[in-house]
Amino acid sequence: MKVRGREIPWIENGFMRVKDMNFQSIQSEFQSSIVPNYGRYEVAFVRGSGNRLFDSTGKQYLDLAAGIAVCSLGHAHPELVETLHHQAKELWHVSNLFYQEPQGHLGSRIRSLLGGGKVFFCNSGGEANEALFKMARKYGNADGKFEILTALNSFHGRTLAGITATGQDKVKTGFEPLVPGFRHIPFNDLTAAENALSDKTIAILIEGIQGEGGIVPATPEYLLGLRKLCDERGVLLLLDSIQCGMFRSGRFQSYQRVLEKYPDGKNFSPDAITMAKGLGGGFPIGALWARDGLAEVLGPGSHGTTFGGNLLATAVANKVLEIVERDGLDKKVREVGNYFSSRLQHLRECFPTTISEVRGMGLMLGLEFFEGSIRFPSTDKPVSAQVVSELLQRGIVCVPAGPRVVRFVPSLTLSRAEVDEAVDTFKTTLQGK
Ligand SMILES: *Cc1c(COP(=O)(O)O)cnc(C)c1O
Repeated sequence: MKVRGREIPWIENGFMRVKDMNFQSIQSEFQSSIVPNYGRYEVAFVRGSGNRLFDSTGKQYLDLAAGIAVCSLGHAHPELVETLHHQAKELWHVSNLFYQEPQGHLGSRIRSLLGGGKVFFCNSGGEANEALFKMARKYGNADGKFEILTALNSFHGRTLAGITATGQDKVKTGFEPLVPGFRHIPFNDLTAAENALSDKTIAILIEGIQGEGGIVPATPEYLLGLRKLCDERGVLLLLDSIQCGMFRSGRFQSYQRVLEKYPDGKNFSPDAITMAKGLGGGFPIGALWARDGLAEVLGPGSHGTTFGGNLLATAVANKVLEIVERDGLDKKVREVGNYFSSRLQHLRECFPTTISEVRGMGLMLGLEFFEGSIRFPSTDKPVSAQVVSELLQRGIVCVPAGPRVVRFVPSLTLSRAEVDEAVDTFKTTLQGK
């Protein structure tokens, strides 16, 4: 096939005839031209469809990573492709100095899902959290309150304030001095939160389910206790739902899932929530939602973004939400997630000296490994990366969450048959067959 007059041997009938594409040349361009801020697996993906990915040699994979909890409807979903295509023909970008119908519409959808409040749109999780920090600071400014407490082992993005908020030293090292006004508290420890509050504290920020920290859900008692504590002390309760939100838990927000069996849970609401990852189904978009009475703190001129909430991103995100609702994917995530989790539990029982724990809910699950087991002895490479590499060779894509946890955050469309296929491969991998 010819592209701009040049013969491209690997494109045939609109598909990559990928055998001819050279992984080495892709890799060498990266080595010479891309900043080396990532350690990468030795694969270049060139095409995707549903929960399948294809690499530059034509090999097929089952995708349990979904671009790190991003591609909520899988790859190349026909209706998302059509929506993007349609919007691209109409209008891409005009800036936030003008009204744009899809942005307002997406705001309304999120508002109705959360029962009120207002939304600010940006392009990523890191930006959503920056808006969150600024909003909290502005809210407390008149009273001289600025301090934000976050959890140990949390993850809140790679901006300067984001790494400061993140409760893991590995992201901070070498970037000092960090942003003043952040302190860490142990996760799921209410007494520690209470003891850490000072007269400068304006907010407590947690993830509903810690993602990068190894798939650790907040307990119902912690969520309810923090809400009560924050109300009593005039402190904002903020949730980073960038990874665990967007129906991944089987409810729109993970706290709704965590609290659903609790009578007091129905009235629980945080003061603000950040979202990104799955919101655009793979198109970059982030959002900050804040309750009525707090959202107004970000008045005209207080914050901004050139690209945020543009027509392409918001048109696609509207479609993602519409499809999730129409196809009842929240219910499906619960069913398939419960099934996946029970199969992983069984796997742990079969390999009690290799797997230490199964955690998570919905389609946000983690397998924790013992360090230095017979199957995965201690090497330079953490056990999670060893397992992920080996599964990749066997045609399963997943990602680590810290040194000992292998994480599964597939698209919300994952089927039971795909779970079976994955778990069968896990089993042969653990057997070393
Ligand atoms: C991914 C993530 C972020 C950062 O989002 P980016 O889009 O990478 O900036 C922040 N918080 C959590 C919980 C995340 O999982």
